[in-house]
Amino acid sequence: MSFAICIACGREKSEPFAPCTFCGLCPESDNVAMAKSLMFSDQFLVLRDCGEYHVSRAELERIAERIRNGQPHVFDDRVISDLIWQKVQLDRDKPRFASGMLQLALWLFVPVAVVWLLVFLVESL
Ligand SMILES: [Zn+2]
Repeated sequence: MSFAICIACGREKSEPFAPCTFCGLCPESDNVAMAKSLMFSDQFLVLRDCGEYHVSRAELERIAERIRNGQPHVFDDRVISDLIWQKVQLDRDKPRFASGMLQLALWLFVPVAVVWLLVFLVESL
């Protein structure tokens, strides 16, 4: 189970894009809120000089406490733009992937149907 915090009220959530049960914020309604919510979860990979790492729960709890105390978090606009760009690419590739899977299923259907028919014919002899 993952750990995330609400970008609006700083309360704990199990998934970054889940609606907040405390304030009702639903990140899936807007790309910026989705990007910020991903950054406020342990699913977010931070790139630094020495490599990449997941944001720690302790780090998220510190941010959550500041938000609950009324201190707004200053997000890195470049990271938000990059995440939105990645989401747009993923959304664009989804229909292509679905159509590829449909073609694969259709290609597999014919050989499977032929084998099934042969087995049926052999068994009926
Ligand atoms: Zn909330």
